[in-house]
Amino acid sequence: MSLKKFHLFFVLFSLSGLLFIYLYIAHLLENNIDSQVKNNIHSTSIELRQQLRNDFSILQQRFFNYETMSLDKLEEVIEYLDTTTDKVDLLAISDVINKNVFDGHYEVYIINDDKVIEKSTSLVDIGLDYNDYPYFSKELDQLKSGGIEYKITAPMFDENALDMSQYYVVRAAGEQWVMIGFVLPFDEYVNHDVEKLQAVFPSLQSLDLFMLTYDSVQHINTVKKQKNIDDLFKKNSQYTNMIIDDLKLVTTEEVSAVEAIAESFSQRNIVSLTDESSDQTVVYALTTSSSENVSDDFMLITKMSFDQNYYLTDYLELKNLMYLFITLVFIFMVAGFLLIHKAIIQRVSAIVDQMHRDDPIKLEGFLFSELSFFVERYNNFLLNWKGQVRALNDITMQDELTKCANRRYFNQKMKAQIDLYERYGQEFSMIMFDIDDFKAVNDIYGHSIGDHVLSKMAHDVREQLRVSDVLCRIGGEEFAIILPETNLESALFVAEKIRKRIENQVYIENKKVTISLGAESYKSEFDFNSFYTTVDAFLYKSKSSGKNCVHSSIPISS
Ligand code: GH3
Ligand code: MG
Ligand code: MG
Repeated sequence: MSLKKFHLFFVLFSLSGLLFIYLYIAHLLENNIDSQVKNNIHSTSIELRQQLRNDFSILQQRFFNYETMSLDKLEEVIEYLDTTTDKVDLLAISDVINKNVFDGHYEVYIINDDKVIEKSTSLVDIGLDYNDYPYFSKELDQLKSGGIEYKITAPMFDENALDMSQYYVVRAAGEQWVMIGFVLPFDEYVNHDVEKLQAVFPSLQSLDLFMLTYDSVQHINTVKKQKNIDDLFKKNSQYTNMIIDDLKLVTTEEVSAVEAIAESFSQRNIVSLTDESSDQTVVYALTTSSSENVSDDFMLITKMSFDQNYYLTDYLELKNLMYLFITLVFIFMVAGFLLIHKAIIQRVSAIVDQMHRDDPIKLEGFLFSELSFFVERYNNFLLNWKGQVRALNDITMQDELTKCANRRYFNQKMKAQIDLYERYGQEFSMIMFDIDDFKAVNDIYGHSIGDHVLSKMAHDVREQLRVSDVLCRIGGEEFAIILPETNLESALFVAEKIRKRIENQVYIENKKVTISLGAESYKSEFDFNSFYTTVDAFLYKSKSSGKNCVHSSIPISS
């Protein structure tokens, strides 16, 4: 396996590993956080509901007291009415009521022949216009026909106010009737300020209360809408349905959720709906009571919306941190991979390529110290090695005295030339020569002069040759010249040229030194030995025919 492939594999493996870890952690976080958010919203809504339930019981208590209190007042007024004769004294009635402490308001109407003829109000107008209120006309008709002294109406909500009102109609004198309205402003008791609640429940975004009594539903805390649900009133035994239907009226956009609310209210009294498209979870809670002390039941439906992001803050921070961390790791890894690729993988590949060529390694630009040490060592080693090879080559392939190629090299070169001839038909020729009467030179002038002649002559012969020609010393004073891509005619020409050169060169004063030569070009019928023997034979032919001449298979043309 190559370093490149390994690196690629490693990079892919690491990056996919990183991606997998990232996705896995993200998956764990998402799942865990999701259920945690749901739990938090659920417990917050339960706490909130508990608080609302407490408020609710206070409110119930108030209503209970209020009813008793207003009845007491009425008794007093009736007593007072009984003592009057013809005329109803409004101021006197107001006095009776004012004598007692009452933490609401009241209105007194004198009704004559279905018309309000006088009206007395304490503090503020409670807003009831008798003549526009058909409900009371009906009540009054009933009273008149039934001859009942007085009738208590049920507590009810005023059309446009948030107050709890209770009205009583009493026969005063003759056809004169007196209607007295006691009003308790209950928004004081159910006044949930979202901002204050948020201090306790930070994720709470909005809170709506719907108060349901036997004849009306009121959207309390923001007074957005008030619905008279007369139809539902008829089936007031089924509170759940009333709530649901009214919710339909109040929050028509949540109709689809209403069935779920109906289901859950009957079982758990609390319903939560998560709006997938927003960051809110809406919780409906039913705070109900059916106290025996209260003559008329009422309920509170609480609609709370919670900000999910509040619970997600830590998670989002963590997630962002993870994104950042993973991105940094990713960048760091990619940078690392690039560095490794450029500074190591590419460099090692370049080094290996250059090593294949047996050249010294040349690299430009940044190099890690280990690699540059390696390159330097390798280059030194290569230089040394090449020098040594050259030296060894000289030792094994060169004749020391004449600096010609030796017999060993001659054998190699011949075999190579025969190969080329046989493979490609590349022709070549060989010249062999031997110094004439050299024994005498040694005998007369001494061995060192003989050596001198040998080396000088080799030098002179080399001068007559091409670079591709190879001069070899194959014996004591016997030489061979291999001439690649040279035919016999050319070889003979060279041989003659050499012979003349030697003949004319003065090696020893007053002593002529000559050589005898034989020459032949290689032919397919030859092999190494027969070719060698043939050229040698031509050399000896030159010796035997008087020396200082050239012999070959063809006559020499001068
Ligand atoms: P011919 O003309 O027949 O060749 O006569 P020749 O005297 O040259 O006879 P031959 O070739 O047999 O003689 C070889 C002589 O060459 C013998 C030896 O003294 C001499 N010789 C061989 N090698 C060396 C050498 O390395 N140095 C010296 N100085 N002489 C050498
Ligand atoms: Mg000789
Ligand atoms: Mg000889």
